[in-house]
Amino acid sequence: MNYETIIGLEIHVQLNTRSKTFCSCSTRYGERPNSHTCPVCLGLPGALPVLNEEVLRKGVTAGIALGCDIAENSVFAWKNYFYPDLPKAYQISQFEFPLNKNGYVLIEDENGREKKIDLTRAHLEEDAGKLIHDEVPKGPSKVDYNRCGVPLLEIVTEPDIRTPEEAYRFLSAVKEILQYTGVSECNMEKGELRVDVNISIRQEGEERFGVKQEIKNMNSFANVKRALEYEIKRQTKILRSGGVLSQETRLFNTNKNATVSMRAKEEAHDYRYFPDPDLVPVVIKSDFIDEIRQKLPELPEARRARFIARYGLTAYDSEILCSSYRIANYFEEACENFSNPKKIANWILSEVMRVLKEEKIEIDQCKVTPQMLRELFDLMEGGTISGKIAKEVFDNMVSTGKSAALIVEEKGLRQVSDRGEIDIVVNDVLIENEKVVSDYRAGKKSAFGYLVGQVMKKTEGKANPKLVNEMLKEKIEK
Ligand SMILES: [Zn+2]
Repeated sequence: MNYETIIGLEIHVQLNTRSKTFCSCSTRYGERPNSHTCPVCLGLPGALPVLNEEVLRKGVTAGIALGCDIAENSVFAWKNYFYPDLPKAYQISQFEFPLNKNGYVLIEDENGREKKIDLTRAHLEEDAGKLIHDEVPKGPSKVDYNRCGVPLLEIVTEPDIRTPEEAYRFLSAVKEILQYTGVSECNMEKGELRVDVNISIRQEGEERFGVKQEIKNMNSFANVKRALEYEIKRQTKILRSGGVLSQETRLFNTNKNATVSMRAKEEAHDYRYFPDPDLVPVVIKSDFIDEIRQKLPELPEARRARFIARYGLTAYDSEILCSSYRIANYFEEACENFSNPKKIANWILSEVMRVLKEEKIEIDQCKVTPQMLRELFDLMEGGTISGKIAKEVFDNMVSTGKSAALIVEEKGLRQVSDRGEIDIVVNDVLIENEKVVSDYRAGKKSAFGYLVGQVMKKTEGKANPKLVNEMLKEKIEK
């Protein structure tokens, strides 16, 4: 008997506005606990929320980029539940009338075919505060309300995903789109993107869905994939042995690499949603949407295609460069007025990426700016330094932040292109290696490389390799 997996996702993404959704408190991360609060986000009696226009703007931007229909009328609702991280005892969210509906995201499935994942909705809501539990058992729990009221976009998919890998690809695609449109940094370590998954298993050919399990609050795509893989095995095993699954909410334990039950369906919440009496319905005029649509930045898919067409890159190179809009920007800035963009692309893919990995930094923290990288290439193209020396110069730029020209000057790395100077070294090498020279003349062509190497060694890599080759050949074949 074969089983089929059905997966749906809910993504909470933090919109990067400077102030909160319904008050002017700062959204800055990592500040002193409870230092960014006011009567509105603390839910004190009589305080009235006012919608931050920037939240709406970023919500619409994301909606357009995700292919959604933008609602001209949407309504904020009270989602009622009590928990200590939520001082109002309700969260302002959207229920019946969300801002964005019916979007989609394209991914490549595991057979290399294009697959469309439909979105049910992408609505606005406010975040809750954060509970900090003491490490000591039975120690106190503390609460930080700085995050209370920070704007979120909740993106909900249709149950269109069939494998853990598809879930991973979908999440990566959504993250890219949100980053490209500038609505969120999606920094998962700061909790700016959290994922809940719904997964059920059914017999192949069965019309009805199986019993749904929810796995809550994952903050890494790799964990989402691992949790799904675990659930497929667990659920299949139960069904195969004739067991019955009951609907549960589960948590993924990264240490055990397994999901554990958090609560059963019986305890599931009834939120008793109703329209927020303190907020007017949101009415958006079409020119507001048009204005945002016109200003929408180029999306990842379009940029990948343009990189291939304009810079002559391979699909693979373009894919990697565009996987982060920051790296894509870096590449384009470095290429400006440079005749050979492919060379710069290769350098970024090998040398720059290596540095980012080694130093565990983002590209905008790299001391070598795109302009500095282009200057290094100008020195190479102009024959001032060889490609080999360029690598040495680059590593020096990374650690010191100095310009390529300055390092070449300070370290005396300028390429030697003076025929007279090279001639002396070539003569020395020929005299010192008589045996190799006669081997070459006797037909052992590989001996030539050795001789070039000797000249380069004596000049500490500074001799112009093209000239060295030319002059050596001239002399031995004479
Ligand atoms: Zn506030």
